[in-house]
Amino acid sequence: MVHNVVARQSRVAVVCLAGMDVGLCTEKTGLQLSDRDKLVDLVAGIWASKPQTPVLLVSPSFTGFESFLGELSSLGFNYFLVDITGVPESILSGLPLERLVEYFLGLLEASLSDRRRAKRASPIVSRRELLRRLFLLPPRHVVVPEPAGSEPCDGGVCPYNALDRGRVREEKCRGCMLCVWECPSAFKPLHWTGIPGLIQAYSYIDKHGLDGILFICHNNLGVLDSIAAEASPARLLPFHVPCVSWLSPQMLEELSSLGVYIHVFYDEDRCRQCSLRLAAEKASSKLRGRGVVVGSSLVQAGGAAFTGYMRPRRSLEEVVRLLSTSVTLRRQG
Ligand code: SF4
Repeated sequence: MVHNVVARQSRVAVVCLAGMDVGLCTEKTGLQLSDRDKLVDLVAGIWASKPQTPVLLVSPSFTGFESFLGELSSLGFNYFLVDITGVPESILSGLPLERLVEYFLGLLEASLSDRRRAKRASPIVSRRELLRRLFLLPPRHVVVPEPAGSEPCDGGVCPYNALDRGRVREEKCRGCMLCVWECPSAFKPLHWTGIPGLIQAYSYIDKHGLDGILFICHNNLGVLDSIAAEASPARLLPFHVPCVSWLSPQMLEELSSLGVYIHVFYDEDRCRQCSLRLAAEKASSKLRGRGVVVGSSLVQAGGAAFTGYMRPRRSLEEVVRLLSTSVTLRRQG
């Protein structure tokens, strides 16, 4: 389940920005995130020769990543295939950049099937709005949950009324994934924030004695430039998600019970601007209900410092079993 680095290296384009050299780069450039248009051309060039290739940017800062993804989106590219790591996360985790790149290669591999499933969609607008904004609507990509079995999911679970008698109405679905974790019998589990992704993260914190995991969405990554050091002396492994609504509260509670400090970044003001605002609100309240730390300041993480060295060692098989049980119990309940 924990993927081999050498095997996956050829499948991911590792683009090192601003002249950075971390040894695992497949491409080095002097461009920075602020050189948005040229960077879009560079990534588009990679996809022109190797479509659907995941791209990992390695950058000295994350400011501008959100607008870079926005630009890819407005041009109709599947921006789910792009991720980033770099100096702010080396500060956050205390890991050298090469180890972080290695970890993200594993995460990309674990989440690749979900990322590649993203389909181009257009936002839902009223007819009047559509007429007003005709041709100006930026395309976006959505990962739609995959049905499994026949048990329907209650329509009230979806904040966007996209569940109709158990069926997902794709034109309304925003891919928030609340229904996947609320109705595990009705949908196939996710790989990104399900067992494959979480085991990849657990194996890294276990191997490097890290204290916990910071879950943060792509739209908020820029804030790490200024707050990554707040968690010190605790060492947190970053885990990027499309939205906090992609997280399973049961699984995160289970990871906490293993002695892993779990922090979910959520900033009410920033998240209010997001198209998944309703889902993020619902998810953050469910996560808090499970005892997970949810918030925009990492200062509290400092209290978890050095727990990584004291945490009882568990085999990956045991962790997989515990995580699977949390979902199975939910299914039965
Ligand atoms: S809950 Fe989210 S993922 Fe599920 S159908 Fe509604 S919008 Fe789509």
